[in-house]
Amino acid sequence: MSHRLPVVVATPAHSGIRGALSYRSESALPPGTLVRVPLGTREVLGVVWDTDLASGLPAGVTEKPIASVLDGLTPLNRAWRGLVDFAANYYQRGMGEVALAALPPQLRDLDTRQLARRLQRKGSGAAASPLGHPPELTSQQRDVLAQMAQAPGPFLLFGATGSGKTEVYLQAVQRVLDGSPEAQALVMVPEINLTPQLMTRFIERFGISQVVAMHSGLTPAQRLRSWLAAHAGSARIVLGTRMAVFASLPGLRLIVVDEEHDPSYKQQEGARYSARDLSVLRGRLESAQVLLGSATPSLESWQACETGRYQRLAMPARVGAGALPQVRLVDMNLQPRRTLLAPALLEAIQERIARGEQSLLFLNRRGYAPVLACSACDWKSNCPHCSAFRVFHKIDRTLRCHHCGHTERVPRACPACGNVDITPVGRGTEQLEEQIADLLAQGPRPVRVARMDADSTRGKGALEAQLAQVHAGDVDVLVGTQMVTKGHDFRRMTLVAAVNPDGALFASDFRAAERLFALLMQAAGRAGRDAAQAGHSQMWVQTWNPAHPLFAALRHHDYPAFASAQLTERRQAGMPPFAFQALVRAEARTQEAAQAFLNAARDAARDLDPSGQITLYAAVPMAMQRIANVERAQLLVESASRPALQRFLQAWQPALQAQREPGLLRWAVDVDPLSV
Ligand code: ADP
Ligand code: ZN
Ligand code: ZN
Repeated sequence: MSHRLPVVVATPAHSGIRGALSYRSESALPPGTLVRVPLGTREVLGVVWDTDLASGLPAGVTEKPIASVLDGLTPLNRAWRGLVDFAANYYQRGMGEVALAALPPQLRDLDTRQLARRLQRKGSGAAASPLGHPPELTSQQRDVLAQMAQAPGPFLLFGATGSGKTEVYLQAVQRVLDGSPEAQALVMVPEINLTPQLMTRFIERFGISQVVAMHSGLTPAQRLRSWLAAHAGSARIVLGTRMAVFASLPGLRLIVVDEEHDPSYKQQEGARYSARDLSVLRGRLESAQVLLGSATPSLESWQACETGRYQRLAMPARVGAGALPQVRLVDMNLQPRRTLLAPALLEAIQERIARGEQSLLFLNRRGYAPVLACSACDWKSNCPHCSAFRVFHKIDRTLRCHHCGHTERVPRACPACGNVDITPVGRGTEQLEEQIADLLAQGPRPVRVARMDADSTRGKGALEAQLAQVHAGDVDVLVGTQMVTKGHDFRRMTLVAAVNPDGALFASDFRAAERLFALLMQAAGRAGRDAAQAGHSQMWVQTWNPAHPLFAALRHHDYPAFASAQLTERRQAGMPPFAFQALVRAEARTQEAAQAFLNAARDAARDLDPSGQITLYAAVPMAMQRIANVERAQLLVESASRPALQRFLQAWQPALQAQREPGLLRWAVDVDPLSV
């Protein structure tokens, strides 16, 4: 007898197929089984789906037989399928697209025999390292863990930088692992950079055989190995970036999301999911505890605590005698023009050098200068393909576009008028490094200045090597982009300075202030982590707007005050988290085509909102209007009700699919967009 089975496969986005396809099989395969099926002229990996989740089987599809079954693998469980189902529906993508993107790519390429061989290969065989002993908990760590034992969560751990959040994660994981031999935990960090340090701590505590990593920096073979270990339950802890939220974890009991406010948790292509939000949902689906942690929570999570949806756990104090750094504002209006660093700041850095301590200078702009300009005419180093300037990199004398990658040698003379006097405008990290080195060169001993940004850490192992140098004390002053402000536990750092953070104060995005505050608090968190030196640790901010309320809150390390002021504004303006948004983004050969598509889609939506709960704004060019010769436009959709917005987007989907616009290249819906 032959069975009819729904199978999800990665169908191309333009096919319009959102649900499962129907295939025939000789045996009744349980949902979650991995199979290979014919699709067009190819054979692809698919997952047998649940009939009740696979609504809308396209009618009239010829039911081809399944080609083969990957029978060495236990089927993906119901909770995992429920997560994929939710994510596909919520983020307006195909079920198969989301499901297949969540599986390691190598699984697609292996046939059943190769897979069987992989499954036989046992672990890495590395000897388990001696297990580290947990330190005695601080009283606030004990309180937090006790509260977690008594309530279901989800929890928001609001803990100052250096308050020992990681130790709370470790012990919360320990507790669930002790609870059952099958139990598993998922721990997420926002960036790959942060995984090595955390991996080390988890391996020291739990042994190397228990922990696997899951992020895009792994080779395909490593990724498959991690995935299989988690799926089989032999790895008890998965540590990874946002993609790890989709790991198959049959024994999942705890999800930790460190630095939960970080924008990196939002996927920016394909299904634009928020791994933080999906964690909370996954916890609910699987009755796993969810622990979100941050010193500067997202306003969404903070508001969820205010309304009782999340439970707030607070750790205001740093471990030991570690004090939070004193915040010093420099009013740049009072400094001579073109001041790089205020004299008082320079002096403070020199004091630290004399004491053998480190300073961190933070500037969110890589390269030497963001623009090169001609002094005789109005030529500037525009990118020919983007609505952006090409950045001057002095090290290899290039002009590089950070959006499309277009790179050229710096011209000898102005390409427009031939004038040889073309000059850098503005300052990036390369220039800061050079100028700081000059400024400090007059001191009694040579000063070691290093730079860390996406350019300096490009090569394999470069980041680790540079971090090791800083940790070893081989650097006196570290210059860097926001890359250096996150997470790192620099023991000898006693001064952090934001050289020029004002740009974000006036950015058009309504989340700019929230982001800047988080960034500065994180940066401040790098200073004074060692109790012995914490007494004189400082965070300096150079600003032309010292009266801005953001800085007043920063000065007192007062996130709650900042959050409360922001939330009041957002409530009055009807902005998230008091409203829910989605963006439709369109890319086309011309701006007109991109906007025409959006406007037609808007017209088609006219009858889809009978109760008037949805606001559709006009199509507008995106802030970065053109990248690599592609014009971009967007349309904002807003509602005070999340379910209403969801219903509307579902109903709108067919109309979006049906729009045809000459010159249109791509479009996508972004639900809960992070920047609008
Ligand atoms: P956070 O993640 O909150 O910024 P960490 O977890 O990195 O803070 O902790 C800061 C420092 O305090 C680390 O060096 C850590 O080893 C140490 N620490 C954490 N908890 C304890 C404790 N209970 N006793 C002693 N040291 C601790
Ligand atoms: Zn010129
Ligand atoms: Zn470009």
